Amino acid sequence: MNVNQHTPMASPYGQPQPGYSQPGYVPLDGGYPGPYAPYNGPASPYQPGAPPQGPARGPPTTGPLPVSAPHQYNQYSHSQGDMQNGPPPMTPPVSQPYNPGAMNMSGPHPTYPQHYGPPPTMQQVSNQMSGMQITSGPPTPAGPGYAPPHSSQPPVSTAYSAPPPPSYTQAPPPVSSAPTQPPPPSGPAASQQYYGSPPPPSQQPFNSSLPPTSQQQFTSSSVPPPPSQQTLPPSSYSGPAPPPGQAPIQVIEDDKAKSTEPFTTGVRGQAPPLVTTNFQVKDQGNASPRFVRCTAYNMPCTADMAKQSQVPLAAVVKPLAMLPPDETPPYLVDHGEGGPIRCNRCKAYMCPYMQFIEGGRRFQCGFCSCVTEVPPHYFQHLDHTGKRVDCYDRPELSLGSYEFLATVDYCKNNKLPQPPAFIFLIDVSYNAVKSGMVNIVCQELKTLLDYLPRENPEMDSAVRVGFVTYNKVLHFYNVKSSLAQPQMLVVSDVSDMFVPLLDGFLVNVNESRLVIESLLDQIPEMFADTRETETVFGPVIQAGLEALKAADCAGKLFVFHTSLPIAEAPGKLKNREDKKLIGTDKEKSLFQPQVGFYNTLAKECVAQGCCVDLFLFPNQYVDVATLGVVPVSTGGSVYKYTYFQAQLDQERFLNDLRRDVQKLVGFDAVMRVRTSTGIRATDFFGSFFMSNTTDVELAGLDCDKAITVEFKHDDKLSEETGALMQCAVLYTSCSGQRRLRIHNMAVNCCSQLADLYRNCETDTIINFFSKYAFRGVLNNPTKAVRDTLVNQCAQILACYRKNCASPSSAGQLILPECMKLLPVYLNCVLKSDVLLPGADVSLDDRAYLRQLISCMDVTETHVFFYPRLLPLMKLESGSLPVAVRDSEERLSKGGVYLLETGLHLFLWVGASVQQELLLNIFGTPSFGQIDSSMTSLPVLDNPFSQRLREIIDSFRAQRSRYMKLMVVKQEDRAELIFRHFLVEDKSASGGASYVDFLCHMHKEIRQLLS
Ligand SMILES: [Zn+2]
Repeated sequence: MNVNQHTPMASPYGQPQPGYSQPGYVPLDGGYPGPYAPYNGPASPYQPGAPPQGPARGPPTTGPLPVSAPHQYNQYSHSQGDMQNGPPPMTPPVSQPYNPGAMNMSGPHPTYPQHYGPPPTMQQVSNQMSGMQITSGPPTPAGPGYAPPHSSQPPVSTAYSAPPPPSYTQAPPPVSSAPTQPPPPSGPAASQQYYGSPPPPSQQPFNSSLPPTSQQQFTSSSVPPPPSQQTLPPSSYSGPAPPPGQAPIQVIEDDKAKSTEPFTTGVRGQAPPLVTTNFQVKDQGNASPRFVRCTAYNMPCTADMAKQSQVPLAAVVKPLAMLPPDETPPYLVDHGEGGPIRCNRCKAYMCPYMQFIEGGRRFQCGFCSCVTEVPPHYFQHLDHTGKRVDCYDRPELSLGSYEFLATVDYCKNNKLPQPPAFIFLIDVSYNAVKSGMVNIVCQELKTLLDYLPRENPEMDSAVRVGFVTYNKVLHFYNVKSSLAQPQMLVVSDVSDMFVPLLDGFLVNVNESRLVIESLLDQIPEMFADTRETETVFGPVIQAGLEALKAADCAGKLFVFHTSLPIAEAPGKLKNREDKKLIGTDKEKSLFQPQVGFYNTLAKECVAQGCCVDLFLFPNQYVDVATLGVVPVSTGGSVYKYTYFQAQLDQERFLNDLRRDVQKLVGFDAVMRVRTSTGIRATDFFGSFFMSNTTDVELAGLDCDKAITVEFKHDDKLSEETGALMQCAVLYTSCSGQRRLRIHNMAVNCCSQLADLYRNCETDTIINFFSKYAFRGVLNNPTKAVRDTLVNQCAQILACYRKNCASPSSAGQLILPECMKLLPVYLNCVLKSDVLLPGADVSLDDRAYLRQLISCMDVTETHVFFYPRLLPLMKLESGSLPVAVRDSEERLSKGGVYLLETGLHLFLWVGASVQQELLLNIFGTPSFGQIDSSMTSLPVLDNPFSQRLREIIDSFRAQRSRYMKLMVVKQEDRAELIFRHFLVEDKSASGGASYVDFLCHMHKEIRQLLS
């Protein structure tokens, strides 16, 4: 029996039907499900699967705290009793009525721009870059230029009562100037005002569902791919300039024009619309492209074919991705005490690819073909087509993505987890205080702590919080609710870090509100006159880790740090920035950590479920390559605010911080990707840790993180069954619930190369190549990495030319339709700052970008490598102007343009721009009077100004990091920075223009063919 013959992937409706009051699951709104049918049946051979953590999960290493070291601290009674004071037991949340929007509370909703206007006229490329010679790099941003004083006395190491009087004039900015966008006043619903829109009012898709009929399988908007014998529509190219069809904008606009219907995931092997297209997704049995995107939706059947084509076989998985308000978040399914039902052999979770047989008493696994007994409580009769009659009532039988409630078997030490904790660790050295960072963080936290993630908006967040400040020594704070004032405990021996208090360190915000507020008011005053410039870093993470260990919970550390940690301590670093190494064989060492200490520490953090987010405020080299090791290995994030100046940068920092604290996040996660026989997951790219070859361990996993998975053949695949993958992520939710999120994906398999080349996704291929290359620089010279990329792409295109394209003259470059943009995008990867840096790009910036890109999804890598450039001469409400190509020659002197990369946002103003436009945007008629230091546009009362600010807001809302606006006047010095992002042009660092690169690729391909 063919196990995949009757999979419900092609059911005509994507959502479960009404009548969803079926016991066993509830929509994922955070509440526990209603009482499920308990397992009362007779004993059966069925055994629940083993926990998927794998053998690597050891017991937590919570040992007794060190007691012997002669630490200096006060008010610390170190008793055994204190040490056993754990957090209060968690109260399970009560069952809640279904609220489709509830899951979206803790994160932003991306804004989905409105329909676009008519497609653009064809844009001819004339390839001349005359007048575009860029001879010097962009200027280094001007720092405050002060010389810090010499390090002197350690700060107060006793309990304090009143802040010492400030003794220097460079005080932190006054409180009133701190947040320009204060959080909303009250109520959890208000958190949406940060960056989102309200949840959808109702679940429309449910009501419009039709019963399944087999005829409807292929009547969706997608047309099955034509047979391979059919003439292909290649893009051919013979001249020096790329034809218009190869212009990225045209491809993007064409895709938008043809994607008018919702994308249904029921047709196996159907490539989704591009990431640049707005579309609605209906889950019909495969994961939404918002969760999983593949490089190829028609995989070659054999390893030989795959090798011949050189097309990478990979998927980019974003397990906790936020969905737009009109799509339903994954349902939570409870299979009862026995836990989720799984294949006995390969342990795959119940999914639409399981085929029920023998009247429903057993099921055959779509991954390994093993037959497993159905436990009595899960038994259901089959209809005449062999489908369970409850198929469409159960998410795990009809949908591509859903969650299972995990049982205690899936928990560390067979114990249900505690809710996670957030610990804020703030650098209070001279630089940190002087830049205003300390003051801003403390002011912001007073409000932000009310917006800690929660699954049920009606309830307080279960997340507890703790506070540490540090320079060369660490200061812990007791903020127990019974105290009148917070107490400081100083640990100055940082060589063997421990936490000097347990009771009162991690607290509930509401209970300890007054003490916390008092602490946050006092911290900036306490350190206002510090002269300490040296910092430690390793002990800071150790302190947070030890605190989580002591509380026996997972959690997140928010570290706010300014400088290279040169103070004597574990993890001490030296300045090793050496630009002479760039371009040499030793360049790779600059991307590697300079000491092994942080790798070891990262491993310990992962074992505890301790995720680290690092906010950097450097004025010089801080060695991001080394400091980023722990964040990158624990699923955390690194944010960098070079030359941080409160006035100019706090908006960006605060928006990033707010989003980071509030966003949907899971802890202590393990991801496993299972595949059907014939292929297997062989490599993984992202922010995580692996102690074996199969389990991706993530101390934390948030809604913005993506993991790229590469697949290799280990046998033949069959065209009939296709290839299946199931990505299962076990994690602890922010309320302390243990869950499994499951994403299923089936793709077609082909024995003809032409079918492969008809169904690839170039944006996903580029995501894979960039991560592959950016990891490659750790061990190879950058030139070797670039050469490898060019060679592999040339092979991909040469294989197509040789095997799939119709005969034509050798002078023609023929590209597969879906890879038309491979050369232009690949060129952008090749000339990125990581692989080909300009003289002005710092080593820290390169290390930072390398880490950042490693966990980007396809949408983010796309806009990062090929920025969006919008002409703003005419704005209409409800639609965006059609973008133009990233080239100098697309810019008109009389125009104004907006460019965004996901990290940067520029407003470029032409030198002879019309007065009316200037008046509308800036309120001034004169080009000379535009203040290019502004970071936000003036609020003017005209439709143009209003619409432009709306567009900027919507761009910001779509990205995971806040983009600071930079106004660039034509021919100003800052224009050099802007030009760096005109990626079709030759770059200052020697990167080829698109046209030159296309010629180069053509030559490489011809060489391979001859
Ligand atoms: Zn199996």
